[in-house]
Amino acid sequence: MRRFLLLAFIVLIACQAVGSPVPDPTNTARPSPTNSPLPTQPAPTPIPTPTSTPLPLLDEGYLVRLHPDGPLYVGDQVSIEVISPESEEQEDRNVLIQVTGLTANDLGSSKFGAHGIGGRIQATFNWVWDTSDLQAGEYQVKFSVQPAGPVWTETVNLLPKVEVPSPEPAADWETVILDCCEINFITGTDFAEDVPELMDLIQAQAESVVSLMGKEFGERIPITILPRVLGHGGFAGSEIYVSYTDSNYAGNDLAQVLHHEMIHFLDRQLGGELRPSILVEGLAVHLSGGHFKKEPLIPRAAVLLELGWYIPLTDLSNSFYTSQHEIGYMEGGALVEFMVNRYGYNAFNAFYRDIEEHDSGDQSKALDLALQEHFDLSLTQLEEQFKSELYRRPINPDMYEDVILTVAYYEAVREYQRLLDPSAYFLTAWLPDGEEMRQRGIVADFLRRPSTPLNLEIEELLIEVDRELRAGNYLAAEKALDQIERELDQVQDEFLIGTYEVGEVQILGLGSD
Ligand SMILES: [Zn+2]
Repeated sequence: MRRFLLLAFIVLIACQAVGSPVPDPTNTARPSPTNSPLPTQPAPTPIPTPTSTPLPLLDEGYLVRLHPDGPLYVGDQVSIEVISPESEEQEDRNVLIQVTGLTANDLGSSKFGAHGIGGRIQATFNWVWDTSDLQAGEYQVKFSVQPAGPVWTETVNLLPKVEVPSPEPAADWETVILDCCEINFITGTDFAEDVPELMDLIQAQAESVVSLMGKEFGERIPITILPRVLGHGGFAGSEIYVSYTDSNYAGNDLAQVLHHEMIHFLDRQLGGELRPSILVEGLAVHLSGGHFKKEPLIPRAAVLLELGWYIPLTDLSNSFYTSQHEIGYMEGGALVEFMVNRYGYNAFNAFYRDIEEHDSGDQSKALDLALQEHFDLSLTQLEEQFKSELYRRPINPDMYEDVILTVAYYEAVREYQRLLDPSAYFLTAWLPDGEEMRQRGIVADFLRRPSTPLNLEIEELLIEVDRELRAGNYLAAEKALDQIERELDQVQDEFLIGTYEVGEVQILGLGSD
């Protein structure tokens, strides 16, 4: 488990707004140990200084990644990411892709740009290669970086259409309309099977959100169900995306995640000039009674303080999405809960929607000014009162283990994605637009995922960690985490010495001069 506390504490967003501004993951605000007295029982594991976790291979050349994940089949609408080496300056450069030997051989060109919340520099080609009329077999795909870049060729194997795995051949998009929501999902998936019994649950989440926030949704909430894990399993933008699969290795509880994202959806409609990220996420966590699960927020924040994991409010406000994910959300949720308990929801809400941008761009300074106006209180004074409240809280010893293992578990999820399920890795997730997929009739990008025996083994272990953690079986959870650590260490080593068999992950190879 220790490995997962050593991993980079970089931008971690369970529910980042799709297409939101891209924070620089290198400017990570990290939780630094404080001089807080440590609890006597059990001995907590302090978070060591985080280290960087560069993506494998990136410094060695261009990396090509194809979508959908896994083997490609005749009929696929293929998307291509050409990922730049980190050392290359790519401004005003582009990539041209051609398929050798075909009449319609030109797949076009695309400029390099920042992709995902991690801002990875790459040229992205969405559904650029229609393979419907091709024969199965090998194709030579030529990549040219222009101007003056390398030119190289990759071999792409198209398998016969009849080999496309179930449920995809018969799968299509389907929509269910509820009073609250328009739910889009793919037939033949776990969600499609469970949808009759999930409709009440989904409607209930929306009604709860309306009741808590005192406002109706102005429209039906558009929801796209992802039949695989992407990121931490939830995204909110102009529509909501949530993962639903029987083999969900990121511990998502559908009701919990939907409730959280619906809060964001309505919160955005309610508006405010500047809604600081710490309060946006804090409000969603507080009103949902927890982050990934129901949890006592203020006692868990008290644990963070005792562990030396508490992040000062100025730092957390200014760098919320670049702070350690689970700590930031727990602390933000506890802070909102503390303020609502002290001032009442209406006073908090009036303050929250009345925060104005500060010239410096610092959200902490904007918060400070609004706090003084509404509560005659500086951010420093609020923090003193908040911490005093946390120090007063008696802590159940089990809570230390639960908080420590929760952080370690999600670090393990992210490390697994980074190495073995890269389309799901939150910083650079492959999340095509749901509406466009429905218009084009494309389902493969969401249905296919890496499914080597190693993928399945580690996902099973992650599911076990979550199950044991929720049951309070901390020793068993830690044991499974240790096994995951050993497996991922080996993968990382093989990446580093260049012998890793990428198999179905679809890292095709490296371009070179
Ligand atoms: Zn959120």
